[in-house]
Amino acid sequence: MTHPFLDLAPLTAARFASIEDRVARLLGTEQDVVIMQGEALLPLEGAIRATAGPGTTALNVITGPYGQTFGDWLRDCGATVIDLAVPFHTAVTAAQVRDAFAAHPGIDFVSLVHAEAATGNTNPVAAVGEVAREHGALFYLDAVASVGAEPVLPDAWGVDLCVIGAQKAMGGPAGVSAVSVSERAWARMAANPAAPRRSYLSLLDWKERWTDGGRRALPHAPAQLEMLALEACVERIEAEGPETVMDRHRAAAAATRAGALALGGGLEPYVREARDAAPVATTLRAPAGVAASDLVARALAADPALALAAGGGALAKEMIRVNHYGAQATRGTVLAALTSLATALTAHGVTVRLEAALEAAEAAWR
Ligand SMILES: *Cc1c(COP(=O)(O)O)cnc(C)c1O
Repeated sequence: MTHPFLDLAPLTAARFASIEDRVARLLGTEQDVVIMQGEALLPLEGAIRATAGPGTTALNVITGPYGQTFGDWLRDCGATVIDLAVPFHTAVTAAQVRDAFAAHPGIDFVSLVHAEAATGNTNPVAAVGEVAREHGALFYLDAVASVGAEPVLPDAWGVDLCVIGAQKAMGGPAGVSAVSVSERAWARMAANPAAPRRSYLSLLDWKERWTDGGRRALPHAPAQLEMLALEACVERIEAEGPETVMDRHRAAAAATRAGALALGGGLEPYVREARDAAPVATTLRAPAGVAASDLVARALAADPALALAAGGGALAKEMIRVNHYGAQATRGTVLAALTSLATALTAHGVTVRLEAALEAAEAAWR
């Protein structure tokens, strides 16, 4: 008996290339788009190791846990790293980036996370890109959590290395990812003696063995199931319309924020200003004296399908995450999350106004 996942025809090079082209179209980019055979950490790490070295002075913007990881990789490559950390309840500003360049004129690399699902903030990429371009710095962006939820425009924003994954707002697979690479970024890699080669991390291998060869023969067996899932997920976004998909995410974030504010009881949006809040996921601050992880555990015990999580690590005490992304970017997800949080808060002896919260969420959704 043939199995739908197991007994597949081989994935051809032409099909692989057409999936890359579709991803490039989604990003509106003319740059080379390389699909990587692994979760997004593969191109995130590969792009840093390819472009950074002892001669690099990197401005590393930290607005959540991923920024911290990038700083570690950059230091490991021998780069001089200037960390620009901002509180997780805000976003970085172009003025802060401009000040960093003024204080450290040698900066030639900027790393930034667009949206952080883990902290719920989103950063002004276009404005930061403008500053990076003024100074001729290479601009590296983690758009894993933003793509599909809000516009990601590497060409318009001057992004040299734009990494995406499909597992968040795109509603797709986690096992493949992609990076768009500018000509400048390829040149930086070619000039970097420490850039990985003959390595699973190597972007240059893909350039030499795949892209420059006219994409006629794959360097190794493709992650076939994940590639088919990536194709299906891009097809589904095209069918719904990328604008409609982004509208759902924006509406879900606005509704969650408005609902949490109306619920009261000390529950608050974690990201203070709405303009800094990411459309992909909304983070909330638990009321004083109530552990966020306890609230979330109570809610999930009643309904494991809820799109709720506690913050990671030290944030587990105070942060609740509403992961309204992908297929979960719906009114139903938001209303269910608010209802379950109201029930859990009530059980903790906190007085809340569920009806007002649901009305506010409905109004904000429209
Ligand atoms: C989700 C996410 C990733 C991918 O990491 P996983 O935790 O493995 O899904 C990378 N960067 C950002 C900013 C993310 O939100």
